[in-house]
Amino acid sequence: MLTLTFLGVGAAFAKRNFASNALVEAWSGDPERSSGPDDNLLVDFGATGPLALHQLIRCPEFSYLQRDGAIRYEAIRNLFITHLHNDHIGGLEELAICNAYACGVEKFGECFKPKILSTAEILRNLWDHSLRGGLGAVRGRQAELADYFTVTPVAGGVDGPPGMVLLDRYELRSFPTDHIQIHRKYDWPSRGLQFTDSQSGRSVVYTGDTRFDPVGLGRFFEKADLIFHEVQLEDHPDPVHTLLTELRALPVDMRKKMILYHYGDDWNKEVFGDVGKEFGGFARPGKRYELFA
Ligand SMILES: [Zn+2]
Ligand SMILES: [Zn+2]
Repeated sequence: MLTLTFLGVGAAFAKRNFASNALVEAWSGDPERSSGPDDNLLVDFGATGPLALHQLIRCPEFSYLQRDGAIRYEAIRNLFITHLHNDHIGGLEELAICNAYACGVEKFGECFKPKILSTAEILRNLWDHSLRGGLGAVRGRQAELADYFTVTPVAGGVDGPPGMVLLDRYELRSFPTDHIQIHRKYDWPSRGLQFTDSQSGRSVVYTGDTRFDPVGLGRFFEKADLIFHEVQLEDHPDPVHTLLTELRALPVDMRKKMILYHYGDDWNKEVFGDVGKEFGGFARPGKRYELFA
């Protein structure tokens, strides 16, 4: 089984929900009768990630992620980074430091290093433009991303081999998303994810942050059984996210398999009361969604 649980479902500056980071868990047995998954993958870990995770580990079904009430970061085996906005990477410094010093200051660089996956460009920028400031210096020398993580660049595109396979069965591929345009579509690197069950051929899409892009993403949506789609509830003349009004124009059978996330704090205004009927509903934090049985 493959499951996905949102640590948070909020937009970048949401305060009622944590930011949209998600824990994917792969199980060889029944989750109800397992003490934890056989493998896992955290999709993004933003500034609210550590607090959101600290809240999640209080639920008994996520107790494998805690020790004595604190986050057990080494229980997170893999991370995928969709893009470099703070709501998606702001928690990585804490995760990296906690792992790197877990076996003592003298053994820095020798402790557990989770795999960090994304395109080579995003991983390079992640270090050069974001993490290096806080993580680049340690006692006696300078540090690199590889001191904290097993750096695993994955090829772009969904038509080639998977960037990662969990439990020899669940395949992960990524595709570019139209989030920020410097000059043109896709010229600022950001990624979405397609999960495929190699046994059944079924697939699930996780859009990451993106503008409305039916041309680029439509073929993944048509094939998918379930789509986690980012959304911005309020209209905007030049959005960098997908507007609810744009998603409302999609065919009903596509809308019904869409679960909306990355939404603002105004989600329970009366005007959005029908979203649950028009779509698969708003994503709920802490709920374990089954992607493949
Ligand atoms: Zn975001
Ligand atoms: Zn973003």
